[in-house]
Amino acid sequence: MGQELIRELVILGGGTAGWMTAAALSRALNGRVSVTLVESEDIGTVGVGEATIPAITLFNRMLDIDEDDFLRATQGTFKLGIEFIDWGDIGNRYMHAFGHFPSDIQIASFEQVWQKMRRHGHAHELSAYSITRAAASAGKFMRPDESHPLLDNLAYAFHFDASLYARYLRRYSEARGVKRVEGRVVDVRQDPVSGDIAALVMEGGAVVSGEFFVDCSGFRGRLIEEVLHTGYEDWSHWLPCDRAVFVPSASNGGPLPYTRASAHGAGWQWRIPLQHRVGNGYVHSSLHVSEDEAVATLLGHLDGEALAAPRTLRFKAGMRRRAWNRNCVAIGLAGGFLEPLESTSIHLVQTAISRLLAFFPAQRQSLEDIAEFNRRSRQEYEHVRDFVILHYHATRRNDTAFWNHCRTMEIPESLAKRIRLYRAQGRIAEDNPEIFTERNWVQVLQGQGIEPEGYAAILDVVDSGDIEDYLASLRSAIASLVEAMPSHGQWLQDLQRG
Ligand code: FAD
Repeated sequence: MGQELIRELVILGGGTAGWMTAAALSRALNGRVSVTLVESEDIGTVGVGEATIPAITLFNRMLDIDEDDFLRATQGTFKLGIEFIDWGDIGNRYMHAFGHFPSDIQIASFEQVWQKMRRHGHAHELSAYSITRAAASAGKFMRPDESHPLLDNLAYAFHFDASLYARYLRRYSEARGVKRVEGRVVDVRQDPVSGDIAALVMEGGAVVSGEFFVDCSGFRGRLIEEVLHTGYEDWSHWLPCDRAVFVPSASNGGPLPYTRASAHGAGWQWRIPLQHRVGNGYVHSSLHVSEDEAVATLLGHLDGEALAAPRTLRFKAGMRRRAWNRNCVAIGLAGGFLEPLESTSIHLVQTAISRLLAFFPAQRQSLEDIAEFNRRSRQEYEHVRDFVILHYHATRRNDTAFWNHCRTMEIPESLAKRIRLYRAQGRIAEDNPEIFTERNWVQVLQGQGIEPEGYAAILDVVDSGDIEDYLASLRSAIASLVEAMPSHGQWLQDLQRG
């Protein structure tokens, strides 16, 4: 028999995390639970999350949002991957493209077969076989359709204006019954016996009570930390960047369908093309560069006129020790932050919401459920953490103290094990296939110059001649498909015309 659900849920925070949570709950709970969102315009939001990964399309589908409508409302563009410049070494350039490689060769994954062919000089770079990568490099875009089976391998995400996205989701949520309370929370009441959160006290004295609270209040974790003292696990010894200076700039030509991440002396600079402007930011380590120098580097690498004065954000890479503590779950920056290199924050918000729905609080919550929720959250954060650290660590750069630190630092054993496994025979450990899988890891490992010493023994039964022919036909099929695709700019113009 099912348990009775809680009846009143309160979300603190109206940034991307708060409104994504409100939208998803209002859709999924169908009015069975009252949802109230509290936010303060005075405090404001971080508002810089502008790049996503393909799973965001599932979130939109779950909300039944029309993708074109969403792109128009958020000045959005399509994103096919991330181009990394100067990471493996100065002059090194590669793309981590979304989408799949073909799965026609059944004996092993495409990536593994490719390792063997490449070792024998019978294959081009891995990226030559990615349709998403080919479309990105050509500035083209189309949604996958049934006109050609290779298009199944194309995947995309979006760049969008995070403040417009929050506004869009606010309209969506309010239309589905979410109550919004504007104002600053100045005090929090706890149950004197259990210690659970009972109510938020607003400036002016109004009280917002609830049975369960979702803390989306940003870095400070107004409930999960300031009230419940959950603790934060600091990962800055592995991810030393702790600041970002950022500025929008004027578009210079049609928007590229990918993010660019260019490494500098003490971090890296993002370039995120939207329809109406370009988002730029230099994520850096304040131990290795002063803020003035960081701003000068940022401004010196814009390819259009700056549209505002640069602003700064400070952060510490890590995660809250428990995402769920008492009757509170932290989602978004209140739960942790892993810096924006692989655009995973909004994705982590999305998966936290799915977990919250799967473990939705009942009147009597099992402690085992809470422990499992926290275990899954941690596993996911650690997986993303390792993937992000790889980019910094797999470098030959020795031109600055920052890169010397990243190259020589100790890395988590989980990542060291992965790299050892890959170096031996090009295999990738699959422990959390939901976010980054073989295709993602191999692109970054290869892109940054880590080569396996051998390949899987079973591949010796594969006839290299047949595979070589297959790879050649694949390249030419990709080339003709991409040739026929419309440009990304054309897509966006058509979109605006409706
Ligand atoms: P916030 O945006 O900080 O929102 C907090 C909310 O809580 C606000 O509404 C605030 O008013 C409210 N609040 C706080 N305290 C109170 C109070 N006492 N009373 C009332 N209200 C209160 N993510 C990506 O996925 N892709 C990216 O490209 C990306 N780039 C980033 C770049 C940088 C430099 C940084 C720092 C982050 C980036 N992120 C990115 C992360 C992304 O910005 C966040 O994950 C996302 O915006 C969610 O933020 P949030 O809603 O948790 O917090």
